Amino acid sequence: MFAINCRLNRVNSIAVLVAALALGLVFAPATADSPSDPKRAAFEVVDRNAEQIATVGDVLYYYAEPGMQEHESAKYVKETLERAGFTVALGGAGMPTNVWAKWGSGKPVIAIATEMDALPEGSQTPGSIPRKPLVEGAPGHMEGHNVMGAVGIGAAFAVKKAMEQFKLPGTIVLSIGPAEEQLMSRPYLVREGYFKDVDAAVITHIGDQSGTGYGLQNYALIGAKFTFKGRTAHGGVNPWDGKDAVDAVVLMDIGFDKLREHLRPTYRGHRTITHGGVQPNIIPDMGQIWWFIRDANGPWAKENFDKLVNVARGAALMTGTTMEMEPFGAAWPSLGNKAIAEAIQKNVEIVGVPKWTEEEHKFARELQKSLGRKEEGLAVKVSPLTAARQNSSSNDIGDITWVVPTAPVRFPSAVPGVQAHHWTAGISPTTSIAHKGAVIGAKVLAASALDLLTSPELLAAAKKQFAEDTKETKYFSLLPEGAKPPVDLNKEMMDKYRPAMRKFYLNKQAVFK
Ligand SMILES: [Zn+2]
Repeated sequence: MFAINCRLNRVNSIAVLVAALALGLVFAPATADSPSDPKRAAFEVVDRNAEQIATVGDVLYYYAEPGMQEHESAKYVKETLERAGFTVALGGAGMPTNVWAKWGSGKPVIAIATEMDALPEGSQTPGSIPRKPLVEGAPGHMEGHNVMGAVGIGAAFAVKKAMEQFKLPGTIVLSIGPAEEQLMSRPYLVREGYFKDVDAAVITHIGDQSGTGYGLQNYALIGAKFTFKGRTAHGGVNPWDGKDAVDAVVLMDIGFDKLREHLRPTYRGHRTITHGGVQPNIIPDMGQIWWFIRDANGPWAKENFDKLVNVARGAALMTGTTMEMEPFGAAWPSLGNKAIAEAIQKNVEIVGVPKWTEEEHKFARELQKSLGRKEEGLAVKVSPLTAARQNSSSNDIGDITWVVPTAPVRFPSAVPGVQAHHWTAGISPTTSIAHKGAVIGAKVLAASALDLLTSPELLAAAKKQFAEDTKETKYFSLLPEGAKPPVDLNKEMMDKYRPAMRKFYLNKQAVFK
């Protein structure tokens, strides 16, 4: 309940609430410690649906589908949202698992955006601190994206209910993009024009604290697989007849190493060799190397990437092989809008932190101890609002932030000190810790979307800030022309593991009310 979670002026807010109820007031003024009535209505909807939100997150956890294979997850989310009154389209921008849901009509159009994909080899028995995969080798949710899908639905539903109750004009959109972990979908959605009518967006990600931020959050990235094709020959008998495609891979790697000194200090370049031949006495006619190239902004990443492509061309020329490039992931750095972040921060402070039990703190400390981390338990404070310290990770949701004024919401469903993309991050996403954090996240998201829906001043300030932030750097797609989303990504992995994973599916409906 609001009055219990409120951090500021608890007594006053209870008094305001009681007075408002007594006088039968429909609207109370919105301040940091007294949310407007649509917000209060949204908070009640979230509280009433806490179990439904938890169910969605748990169901998605056991589907554990990696990027572009979120078929069961997308189907479940579509059915859940349709039952809740949303119009839902799957398959946007040529991606079968893209979820685009909306409710309402006309302006303003406010979007909530997130993702729900799992990671390879992350399978883990939830709640078990020792390593115990549900299915050995199978993918799993080791970043809590399952909770994010649930939070997005809970928030969108709460906004819809508040819009209905208070007859608020506008449209609420929920966008759940596929394959965030491979930075794959948002550039396609933006290219397809999905966000061109959206006035503002709030993006959400799991964290170990409630908070937001503004400015550049992370890095730009361009990924691509380079496939070289040559001619095979016997390595001992007639190697001179061969054209070694793996030589081209090796030369490309060396070529980029020579380039490193001449790139900006902010660059990142990393690769994995995905096809390196069969055995030494067979000159390989095929070789493949997969690169991620990053930098602090989109244009710089593109500059580095163009140089990498030239290195690949040179490697092909040196070895007499052919080279084909397949784009594989692209992202702009996420740009947090200060005006929106300030509004979010107020909601972060109104909603406050979950009421953790001693048992939950104890579980968190045990997990932290097992990792050799500080045994601090769970977050009992929200993050203060600060300009972001740009980190060198990437998230393709960044593309949205360069075409629509956007700010992030982090919610406290993860245990502090646990590193995402590690199986230990798969221990807590179905626990009461994740569930309580999800309630906080859904409230902050819903309240922030309602601010954007109901305050033309905020929307105008967000647009002004956006114009300033993008004055010098204009968005362009980092995808090469004609690039198509790789919808078979992770398919082989899912085909292999799905039958064994299916046994753990929850088969539980979430009916929002
Ligand atoms: Zn993530």
